[in-house]
Amino acid sequence: MALIVQKYGGTSVGSIERIEQVAAKAIAARAAGDDLVLVVSAMSGETNRLVKLAHAVASDPDPREFDVLVSTGEQVTIALLSMALNRRGCPARSYTGSQVHILTDNAHTKARILGIDEARVRGDLEEGRVVVIAGFQGVDEQGNITTLGRGGSDTTAVAMAAALKADECQIYTDVDGVYTTDPRVEPDARRLDRITFEEMLEMASLGSKVLQIRAVEFAGKYNVPLRVLSSFEDGPGTLISYEDEEMEQPVISGIAFNRDEAQLLMRGVPDRPGVAYHILGPVGKANIEVDMIVQNVGADGTTDFTFTVHRNDYQKALEVLEATARELGAREVSGDNKIVKISLVGVGMRSHAGIASTMFEALANEAINIRMISTSEIKISVVVDEKYLELGVRSLHAAFQLDQAPVA
Ligand code: ADP
Ligand code: ASP
Ligand code: MG
Repeated sequence: MALIVQKYGGTSVGSIERIEQVAAKAIAARAAGDDLVLVVSAMSGETNRLVKLAHAVASDPDPREFDVLVSTGEQVTIALLSMALNRRGCPARSYTGSQVHILTDNAHTKARILGIDEARVRGDLEEGRVVVIAGFQGVDEQGNITTLGRGGSDTTAVAMAAALKADECQIYTDVDGVYTTDPRVEPDARRLDRITFEEMLEMASLGSKVLQIRAVEFAGKYNVPLRVLSSFEDGPGTLISYEDEEMEQPVISGIAFNRDEAQLLMRGVPDRPGVAYHILGPVGKANIEVDMIVQNVGADGTTDFTFTVHRNDYQKALEVLEATARELGAREVSGDNKIVKISLVGVGMRSHAGIASTMFEALANEAINIRMISTSEIKISVVVDEKYLELGVRSLHAAFQLDQAPVA
């Protein structure tokens, strides 16, 4: 008998009919002999609605109260799903994050899970119940409700699976697996049978929102077998696992992109030791996370300094930078919040040359100007104008023939 944690995202529980379908699916899995823990998201659109309500009251809502508000969406779903299961004669019980005791730190709106007391869940399973848990939420040591960041129900599911040593954690969503890129942008994207934790982590952190980054981190750390599947159709989905010898490794496994970026530029900065620190220190102090950084080679004793931040932080970063520029006597500050980052990901890059030139050639053929480049062992990222996102992704998808299965 296997213990399976299944997570259903917003679209999968988006209406009463869909909740009924989830109940039917769960009952079928139980009939096959599995013990089940279900983790669910808020019904689709609900979390966005709650976030909007908060901002209608305060432009910068109190984080503790924000979490009390946005965590309510999931509580609706757990109760409805448990009712649906009970009505079908399948004993079920719902729990909020604080009831099941998902202990987190106190970083409201982006809390990290510290531990889970799984005794209550085990007790229910032993008594033959299906356990239904609210995703995305936890409780800190003082008893305050916390949330885990957007997409956080994935992390709840993986953490539950790790705590219970479940046989598999299944993420049911509105696509039937992890694709070579977001199928909404490239219809020729191909479903992957398997992807390594390392690549999935890179894809998630570079913007692929199919899994929350922390869920992938957690699954890798605790070696939780993780699978992404469709809640609407049957199929094998995508298994996320460690690399093994038999795995046929394509050079490039996918393309990720991030629309949430903005670029800032300081020109004519005096080229002397400590300048990068002088520019980025105040940015960090303002709690703004910096992503890519480029400093040009100096000429005439001055240099240009460029970096990217989350689009939400663009205005704030611009203000901080203008103050710094005055202090440093820099020539000018400018910025652009209509940029995106496109990244190629693949562990095979380690052993293959020429990936970057193929990438730049494909973008050049479409006359797409590259504004910034950054590389690491298994990825290459470029920053381009927002209007080139779709074209850029599709041209790279074609250049690396990602629509075709790699030949063995
Ligand atoms: P859920 O509400 O079930 O958590 P999400 O919207 O968070 O669902 O994640 C699923 C979506 O992720 C898909 O609809 C798809 O548009 C998007 N996505 C982005 N990149 C990928 C990818 N590489 N493979 C599959 N889906 C992707
Ligand atoms: N409901 C939350 C969100 O929309 C968490 C989740 O769905 O994973 O971000
Ligand atoms: Mg999600």
